[in-house]
Amino acid sequence: MGSQNHERSKNLVNLGALTCAAENPQPGNQVRSDSTSPDDRADILLVDDREDKLLALETILAELGQNLVLARSGSEALRLLLQRDFAVIVLDVNMPGMDGFETAVLIRQRQNSELTPIIFISAVNYSEVHLARGYSLGAIDYILAPIVPEILRAKVSFFVDLYKKTEQLKQQAEIQSRLARAEAARAEAEAANSSKDRFLAMLSHELRMPLTPILFSASMLSKDERLPPDARKDLESIAYNVQVEARLIDDLLDVARISQGKLSLTLDSADIRPLIDSALSICAEDLSAKNLTVHRELKAADPTVRVDAARISQVFWNLVQNAVKFTPPHGRVTVRVINPEQGWLRVEVIDTGIGIAPEALPRIFDPFEQVESGRSGGLGLGLAVSKAIVELHGGKISASSEGPQRGSRFVIELPNILGESGTGRSDAGAQMAPAPDWNQNGPKRHQILLVDDHNDTAEALRNYLGRAGYDVTVAASIEVACQCVEQQCFDLLLCDIGLPDGRGDELLLKLRRAGYEFPAIALSGFGAETDVARSRAAGFHTHLTKPFSPQQLKRTVEEALRGTA
Ligand code: ADP
Repeated sequence: MGSQNHERSKNLVNLGALTCAAENPQPGNQVRSDSTSPDDRADILLVDDREDKLLALETILAELGQNLVLARSGSEALRLLLQRDFAVIVLDVNMPGMDGFETAVLIRQRQNSELTPIIFISAVNYSEVHLARGYSLGAIDYILAPIVPEILRAKVSFFVDLYKKTEQLKQQAEIQSRLARAEAARAEAEAANSSKDRFLAMLSHELRMPLTPILFSASMLSKDERLPPDARKDLESIAYNVQVEARLIDDLLDVARISQGKLSLTLDSADIRPLIDSALSICAEDLSAKNLTVHRELKAADPTVRVDAARISQVFWNLVQNAVKFTPPHGRVTVRVINPEQGWLRVEVIDTGIGIAPEALPRIFDPFEQVESGRSGGLGLGLAVSKAIVELHGGKISASSEGPQRGSRFVIELPNILGESGTGRSDAGAQMAPAPDWNQNGPKRHQILLVDDHNDTAEALRNYLGRAGYDVTVAASIEVACQCVEQQCFDLLLCDIGLPDGRGDELLLKLRRAGYEFPAIALSGFGAETDVARSRAAGFHTHLTKPFSPQQLKRTVEEALRGTA
């Protein structure tokens, strides 16, 4: 017992002596220790009216490595409690003015400290009743002075650990709920996105649908020599503007797809030259209307690239169309294809037109950018879409101009597939190939089955194809189409995808199963990649998105029929 007392007295802290032991007391309320990183430290509030006792508490607790905050009165403690949360409060009972018990009552009344552990320090050994009062006020523990440092440290350390674990759990719960909120926001955004996609696809379908009969009728009537020249000119303008309208719908949809990262490519190796010729032949009428000379310099030894042919044609078409649009009559448009270095193919579209001011050059590939807005009639989307397509192919597109009225040069560079091009023949300096003849009086009249339930479209296509030398039978449903093929032989199927009694691809599958092998072309107001892929998978030779021009239909029909020749 005697030795026990001795041991205990060694651990007792002489508060007066400890006052001298602290050589560099820190100013203000805060005492920091460096053993724990600042982020990990818990705040401990030490409340005592006497500096020497505060210093003693500080010294005992310093080795816990936490953040010790000092208060010299109950009211100072309450003020500090307003500013932050504490892991534990060490509170002297006997203080002048507001004593420890009164301070505890007020601490417990505040929401953020109603559960904070309080350890009372008392120099007087209070009666049981007194202690009971302290506990009823929320004391977690009582320590009688003189303090045994290890005991105070152990108790404070216990509450610090508890506090840190509770904080950790709170943080994890917060992270979980934040993740759930992210998740929820993403699901919401995805749902909104897909309904936007559906809406855009539907909108474009509905916008395109009525354009087909307008385009066909206007195109045909504009060539009808029985009509006065003025009327034919107006009809030409109607046909032209319908195509512009369709192009705007396509560009808007493409911009929406690009901004959502949804523009996908179907890559295949291709000779670049036919794609350029196709762009030139689409613009042939505009080129000749403005009396523009075309120089077609296809010098590349290796013109083979791995591309999505439809998308790259769209880029060439856009560049040639711009060259035509921005070059005054009697100017020149040059299309050049070279291999600037091994592994690359360069296509240049050069015009002698209005040129581009240097300050406008960096902006022209941004969506909705036009050097002089409204002047060209477009929306400023073509180059933005072209840039996205070229970059998706791993290529580059750039523009240069020596200034206003000094022409423009657009350059596309695409990775080349060397060695796959066969002969690698170049035809430098060749003039633009004339469009293939629209064979009206050929020896054999091909029989076409046209399946479309949109009366005006079916009528316009039948008229046009009829004048072009084809025999066209129209069916407005799958059922009627099936009856037609049983009664007559056909060379080609032109089939709308949305039919009253099913889908066009279902009709094609049915016909293929029954042994019919004629080529088929899908016609649809839906033109997304997935729609095109679905048509291809069903066995359609081509998917034509409405409204297509008579020239496009002409080319596609010829290609499909040639494929079977
Ligand atoms: P838009 O359909 O409005 O022509 P583009 O994205 O194709 O949109 O072109 C953006 C702008 O870049 C045009 O409005 C025009 O100001 C300028 N631009 C494009 N090509 C040429 C060109 N060959 N010559 C002069 N300016 C051009």
